[in-house]
Amino acid sequence: MKKRIAVIGGGIVGSTCAFYLAKAGHNITLFDDGTGQATKAAAGIISPWLSQRRNKVWYRLTANGASFYQTLLSDLQSLGYNTDFYQQNGTLVFKKSDKLLDKITNLAHQRREIDTLIGDLKRMSVDDLTTLMPELTPPSPALFASGGALIDGKDFIDTLHQASSQFDFHFVNTKVDITSLEFDAIVLAVGAWLPECLAPFGLKVDVRAQKGQLFSACLSNQQTDNYPVLMPQSEIDLLPFKNGKWVIGATHENDMGFDLTPDLTVLEQMKAEASHWLPELDRCDMEDIRVGTRAYTSDYTPFFGSVPYLENVYTASGLGASGLTSGAYIGYLLSELIQEKELPMDITPYSPSKYITK
Ligand SMILES: Cc1cc2nc3c(=O)[nH]c(=O)nc-3n(C[C@H](O)[C@H](O)[C@H](O)COP(=O)(O)OP(=O)(O)OC[C@H]3O[C@@H](n4cnc5c(N)ncnc54)[C@H](O)[C@@H]3O)c2cc1C
Repeated sequence: MKKRIAVIGGGIVGSTCAFYLAKAGHNITLFDDGTGQATKAAAGIISPWLSQRRNKVWYRLTANGASFYQTLLSDLQSLGYNTDFYQQNGTLVFKKSDKLLDKITNLAHQRREIDTLIGDLKRMSVDDLTTLMPELTPPSPALFASGGALIDGKDFIDTLHQASSQFDFHFVNTKVDITSLEFDAIVLAVGAWLPECLAPFGLKVDVRAQKGQLFSACLSNQQTDNYPVLMPQSEIDLLPFKNGKWVIGATHENDMGFDLTPDLTVLEQMKAEASHWLPELDRCDMEDIRVGTRAYTSDYTPFFGSVPYLENVYTASGLGASGLTSGAYIGYLLSELIQEKELPMDITPYSPSKYITK
């Protein structure tokens, strides 16, 4: 039966959920304020397998999320859309000692037994690295995983909205008060704003905001089109896009609430650190500074599903620093849940009831 569904929040979760619900024939209204959106601010790395986090609940979701991109890309391509927002050139992880690099190499091999998308794993010496990317001055060897990818959050969202527009889909660029909405179902994909959305119902949400900033720089004459993403063991990552464009990010600022002001001091520090790896950065200006707000739970695990105490209201939040990896899959799972379909994974460990209380 065709349902009228409101999706609040047009980041990765809301836009993917809206796309799959609209594609399945439902009437979808996507409301998005857009201010501070994490997804549009992010240029993200899709490489959960090289994380040292041992939290199995988090890992299973993000690893499934990374794999789900193959389905989503083919769904968009079959509708005639270009999926250049996703580039799969591999990822390189660096560690501060050989021992730590050995440890992550072993973990990656174990994870590959189930998560085959990780692809080829190989150690690269400093010489191998500078042969591949002559502009770089990496300080140590690295582990390369060929399945790693990067994604431009803004381009991805724009593509999803265009594709959804083929169906019964309406986009409304406004902030809504959900107490005034009348729909068959409501999806709250509002990221860090979930506490304020549920406060009128007397519900408390274990989610806090974190500020994230990044910038890009265009380095002339660099053939970066096939370069892998670099993940040093520090706050910064170096993400090569096409035609010499590099994105350097991102900050993780915990005491700034929903502040969206670019902080040049912090950005300059990140630039100086990245210049040790990419010396030409020193001579370039920062372009396209993006600031967004991530959402974290107190145990750093995302949640999604039905909102306790409210009927026909669904949500997802707390995606933290890996939401570009897990968010599309979470949006898809929500769309299946709303349609009462059998889900491809057990979602009970991600139940919102642990995080949303009276
Ligand atoms: C700088 C930066 C770098 C990142 N890098 C990576 C990375 O490398 N890899 C990775 O996997 N993840 C990364 N992330 C994390 C990832 O971007 C987020 O976890 C993810 O995008 C969160 O998606 P979301 O849909 O839950 O929320 P959001 O994208 O924040 O979307 C929520 C939307 O809801 C809207 N909204 C809120 N309330 C209302 C209302 N009442 N009415 C209407 N609209 C409303 C907001 O305005 C916003 O547009 C990064 C994030 C940042 C900020």
